[in-house]
Amino acid sequence: MMLAPEIETRPWAEQLAVDDASYRTQLSYLFDRSAFYRDRLTAAGFSSDRQAGGLADIAELPLTDKHEIRATCTPDNPIGAHLCVTPSEIVRIYSTSGTTGTPSYIPLTASDLDNWVTGSARSYAASGIAAGERIVTTYNAGPFVAGAALAAFERLSLGHIPVGTGNTERLMRAIELLEPEAAVLTPSYAAYLVEWAAERELDLRGSSVERVLVAGEPGGGEPAFRAGLEEGWGARVTEAMGIGDIGPSLWGECEEQDGMHLGARGFVHAELIEPGKGAALGIEDGTTGELVLTHLRHRAAPLLRFRTRDHVQVRTTRCPCGRTSPRLRCIGRTDDMLIVRGVNVFPSAIREVVSEFAPRVSGHIVVKPQAPGPKQDPPLPVNVELAPSAAAEPALADAIRDRLREVLVVQTRVELVPWGSVQRSDYKSKLVER
Ligand SMILES: [Zn+2]
Repeated sequence: MMLAPEIETRPWAEQLAVDDASYRTQLSYLFDRSAFYRDRLTAAGFSSDRQAGGLADIAELPLTDKHEIRATCTPDNPIGAHLCVTPSEIVRIYSTSGTTGTPSYIPLTASDLDNWVTGSARSYAASGIAAGERIVTTYNAGPFVAGAALAAFERLSLGHIPVGTGNTERLMRAIELLEPEAAVLTPSYAAYLVEWAAERELDLRGSSVERVLVAGEPGGGEPAFRAGLEEGWGARVTEAMGIGDIGPSLWGECEEQDGMHLGARGFVHAELIEPGKGAALGIEDGTTGELVLTHLRHRAAPLLRFRTRDHVQVRTTRCPCGRTSPRLRCIGRTDDMLIVRGVNVFPSAIREVVSEFAPRVSGHIVVKPQAPGPKQDPPLPVNVELAPSAAAEPALADAIRDRLREVLVVQTRVELVPWGSVQRSDYKSKLVER
């Protein structure tokens, strides 16, 4: 189902014209209300929004890194100097878990929250789910922005069954008794449940679930990994992606399964940059780079050219579904990227190549970098878990090693490890172990 066909099928050039007007208004708002951006833009030589220009000139403006915002937090202003509104205008404050332990706060006005729900609803609708169907979700409506996406399911007139995180028995009982047509999970949890059901001789393929919507980490769009999930669930798998600081479920894949459309079009502008130097790359078919996002109509604490640290590939060819936005596939987190003799390697890409060797392997891997930081000397150690009945044949390890070199141009040392020895996750997988 398409939630807003007049918007979602609008020619992309027309969308950019609409976005240019929103962007100019947003820049004027930032100069007016955001101490953080007023200072930064002035320091970069732009003393007014007129000088900063329009969307065509956005690459001239400085990028925003998460820690720069965080550095402006004070006891008086724990949100940061990018806060643009008074406390009375804020209707909700989310937080990110924060890898360093200190949370970042994400405030929203009523219109910000409404736009988040609208964008998420379009992204989830792209999966093909229809009004009146039931959907079981495994996200908690807790402090994290994923909770805001839950309101999207009411917007789509779905029968929403929230079961929350980390309760597999409750989830499987809900599927068995309430017979939802769709389930929302992380790809790791979806994979875990395939094994969980197999161990108990439960017929997951025979369940009511026809669509599995995955989000929260890269992997759901990788062909071999996706094929495994579709086989295990007997269901169509599509993925969605959000970025905590910008919005939940900004992107959602349609039934063509060829990358995620920008459901948050009109609210968010996307760019690609080179991960290292930060040079702007065009949004052209096949281009890969780090995703950079700019709020276009945000009020509480808007971000400009925010580095998401997600490494993505863009598709701009016409999609048969009729949606005109560019599509994305997430390759991995820039933070997880390893550099082996000058070649960028993502752990999720290694897992994807290894998954081609199913059913002899389980699909679980662990990359074990030997040096601190991203730079590694070859060979890169990779533990590959075998399928339950498979033997650790040296020829298999050699074949995986050769295939990794062929596809990813990386020299590895593949160790085959027994079934069950790689830690499973009912949330997000850890593919790297230091
Ligand atoms: Zn499509």
